[in-house]
Amino acid sequence: MRIARFSHQDAITYGIVDGKELVVLAGDPMFAGYETTGTRVPVADVALLAPVIPRSKVVAIGRNYRDHAAELGNEVPAEPLMFLKPNTSVIGPGDAIVRPPQSERTDFEGELAVVIGRIAKNVPAERALDYVFGYTIANDVTARDLQRSDGQWSRAKGFDTFCPLGPAIETEFDLDGGARIVTRVNGEVRQDGPISDMVHPVRDLIAYASAAFTLLPGDVILTGTPAGIGEFHAGDVVEVEITGLGILRNTVRNA
Ligand code: MG
Repeated sequence: MRIARFSHQDAITYGIVDGKELVVLAGDPMFAGYETTGTRVPVADVALLAPVIPRSKVVAIGRNYRDHAAELGNEVPAEPLMFLKPNTSVIGPGDAIVRPPQSERTDFEGELAVVIGRIAKNVPAERALDYVFGYTIANDVTARDLQRSDGQWSRAKGFDTFCPLGPAIETEFDLDGGARIVTRVNGEVRQDGPISDMVHPVRDLIAYASAAFTLLPGDVILTGTPAGIGEFHAGDVVEVEITGLGILRNTVRNA
């Protein structure tokens, strides 16, 4: 099932994507189940929003693909390398990524995003996927120059608009189904890697993160980016596509 969040008749609403239509739900399905209102609206008639606004945090994992770690001259860490992005960095499909004036090099990083559905603390890897609501696409936008000069990553990865999410949450995504992450800038392929290349798989990331932080419903885990990261500029269109999850498309502008 594919769940979208959108604005409709001046209200923020959730719906199940059914072809070119949305079956409008009575509430947020993460908390209120799948009761429908009886209304259907064409997808083309609504503005899609980020499918989830994390209530407490976006947990992100660095250097979780061997080829990407190597392209920036880094080793793959023995344990997942975690950082946080503030929920104020989240934007939705179609929204503009704003390049901040403090940075001269702002990069895309296409990533698989895990949406947590239940309170998770000290969850063993074997049961970790029971805590997942679904999956979506993220762009872990990074001010690469500030990441280097700051030494830690909060600012470089935490600017407003630096966490596009969407276009929808797929609740039945198959982690072992051969999905690929493909990132395009202005239609040109820049990243193309299988999610099976993750060093630490999703179940291990949930276990590792929940051993440190209580994960709340609506929290999101970004699982790392494959090789091919690079910069973008004002006027560019950045698309991240993951097999089975659709395309997350954003424009870019300067502040
Ligand atoms: Mg990343």
